[in-house]
Amino acid sequence: MAVTKALLQSGVTYVGGYQGSPISHLLDVMVQARDYMDELGVHVEACTNESSAAAMLGASIMYPVRGAVTWKSIVGTNVASDALSNLSSPGVMGGALIIVGEDYGEGASVIQERTHAFAMKSAMCLLDPRPELPTIVRMVEKGFELSEASSMPVMMELRIRTCHVRGSFRTRSNRAPAISRRQLQQEPAGFLYERLAHPPATFRHEKLKYDVRLPAARKFIVEHGLNEFIDGRHGEVGVIVQGGLYNNTIRALQLAGLADHFGHTDIPLLVLNAVYPLVPGEIERFCAGRKAVLVLEEGQPEFIEQEIATLLRRADLQTRLHGKDRLAMGGEYTADLILSGLLPFLSEYLPAADVSPGRRYVEEVADLRREAAARLGAPVPARPPTFCTGCPERPVFAALKLVERDVGKLHVSADIGCHAFATFEPFSFGNSILGYGMSMASSAAVKNFSARRPVAIMGDGGFWHNGLLSGVSSTMLNQGDGVLVIMKNGYTSATGTQETVSTPHSEAKRVAEGGSATGSELTIENTLRGMGVKWLRTVHNYRVGKVRKVLKDAITSPFKGLKVVIAEGECQLERQRRLRPIRARRLKDGLRVVRTRYGVDEDTCTGDHSCIRLSGCPTLTVKDSSDPLRRGPVAHVDNGCVGCGLCGEVAMAAVLCPSFHRVEIVTHPNLWDRLGDRFNRFALGLLQRQA
Ligand code: SF4
Ligand code: SF4
Repeated sequence: MAVTKALLQSGVTYVGGYQGSPISHLLDVMVQARDYMDELGVHVEACTNESSAAAMLGASIMYPVRGAVTWKSIVGTNVASDALSNLSSPGVMGGALIIVGEDYGEGASVIQERTHAFAMKSAMCLLDPRPELPTIVRMVEKGFELSEASSMPVMMELRIRTCHVRGSFRTRSNRAPAISRRQLQQEPAGFLYERLAHPPATFRHEKLKYDVRLPAARKFIVEHGLNEFIDGRHGEVGVIVQGGLYNNTIRALQLAGLADHFGHTDIPLLVLNAVYPLVPGEIERFCAGRKAVLVLEEGQPEFIEQEIATLLRRADLQTRLHGKDRLAMGGEYTADLILSGLLPFLSEYLPAADVSPGRRYVEEVADLRREAAARLGAPVPARPPTFCTGCPERPVFAALKLVERDVGKLHVSADIGCHAFATFEPFSFGNSILGYGMSMASSAAVKNFSARRPVAIMGDGGFWHNGLLSGVSSTMLNQGDGVLVIMKNGYTSATGTQETVSTPHSEAKRVAEGGSATGSELTIENTLRGMGVKWLRTVHNYRVGKVRKVLKDAITSPFKGLKVVIAEGECQLERQRRLRPIRARRLKDGLRVVRTRYGVDEDTCTGDHSCIRLSGCPTLTVKDSSDPLRRGPVAHVDNGCVGCGLCGEVAMAAVLCPSFHRVEIVTHPNLWDRLGDRFNRFALGLLQRQA
């Protein structure tokens, strides 16, 4: 919300992006703020991928309009990099701001790489603001100005922890842009070949980058004080820190007894809110006269430290430089980790400083760890994430397990999305993950040398993001054989159930009350047919027997060519969110509401737990048997069951024990419910008497 407000205060003309953690909600908030945006004439675009979001910034090349886009990095920046190169080469006239969620560190969900590399290679500024709302807001506003002063696009990275920061900031009035949906540009921009990313203009662009733009950016950074010099009484040493690591650094200094809760520090700091480009004069000013400086830079390679080393050498400064030699090359720089590097650094260069609180803290933590390990006696079992209860994707993997029983082990090309949970127990499916929507493309070679057809799996989000072009179109072009399973759950679920072009409209959703994802919407099917896909089957996910048959058909069919199985079932999370208020309303109005639950008859349960191994539902668990003669635990369905029916279906399809039963809990029953209940009780009583 802070970033969105800052954008509106900055007179932005257009915003867009593609969702992904840790920045998903920025786009959600932008979309939700549509009314405010409309009032100001700001255009909001929910882009289909990061590439289209980056290309959108092309508006700022030829028009004096400010634009901002957002995505998750590093993956999103990878996808966007073609457009980013072509944007950075001619440079921009209006401010272009890219807000990336830097998904790096302990809570990350993607490969561990840094956005910094892209900023350097394409000559874009990179801001890494101190995790504090006023600084973040200021950096958004200054980011636009910096972009206009230097003609460079500006990236602003918000780390995972930064995205969870709370606080307050003083707001200003929103600013309506001079050119917007409400204030139309009457004539298109003139033709200027030099503004195209095309040779020979590109040769001049390269020269402009280092001769004009980078110096202009450095001048702006200095004049507007983007980087912060924080003084401390121990001037013999200093710490240069990426802005995003400031909070952890202060916490580490506080643990060492060298800072307080309010950020007053005894050790001088240079906080780099602008991490690219660095300003040589600022580095020299901070380092001159100090015995040593420590650079706190997260991730590898150590771009900042290497540049500082070069700058110090060129300036002939003899200040000792430390960084990655004292701290981990990779991984997140938590406060504890920073402290572990800080203590030996301070002992060496500041022996008089009292860092005993820090040493005590390190020892205490080590003792606690040892104690906990001794008490546990063994490593704690891993608790990997899994599908939501009742997720429609789980039955497809249960069916695939059953198919493997029939045809043997399969090569599965996995993808990004909720279905990647199938890489964990009890499914353990997936031989590769090459990127969002890339599963089909990643099976392109494998399928040609495999005796058994590999299976590529992607979600509808991945299909529209990239899979359609990189996988389907390429397979059709090469007349390739292959099996593609598309999980059509109706949303881009993994990033927060954002809509795709095939998300059903509310009317279709109402039609689909029974659990089908997409009612009358057939966009994926129509698109595939339009591309010439001849073998196409749509299955309802929860019918495990049917899904098993269709998957087996696809894998063993004599048909040569692409075979697509569309596995349809609405994302359970979204379905529950949608149905909960409807149910609550009906209950309030005294209307009949039926909830379905499944249960296990513990007398019949054999205790072999095949059902658990085939379903993986978190509410399908174990409990001690109430029969004193039975030793092992029996299967048990706890109260989280949403009644999807998978466990019963799996029991049927895999011919397991008949211990599953279905219960309907009726609130505000009608006459027929009451009569039916009486009859059931009577019949059961008779049967029990006979028994
Ligand atoms: S968010 Fe939806 S698709 Fe994803 S695991 Fe949960 S129910 Fe399944
Ligand atoms: S226990 Fe069975 S019916 Fe209930 S949510 Fe889990 S798989 Fe579905």
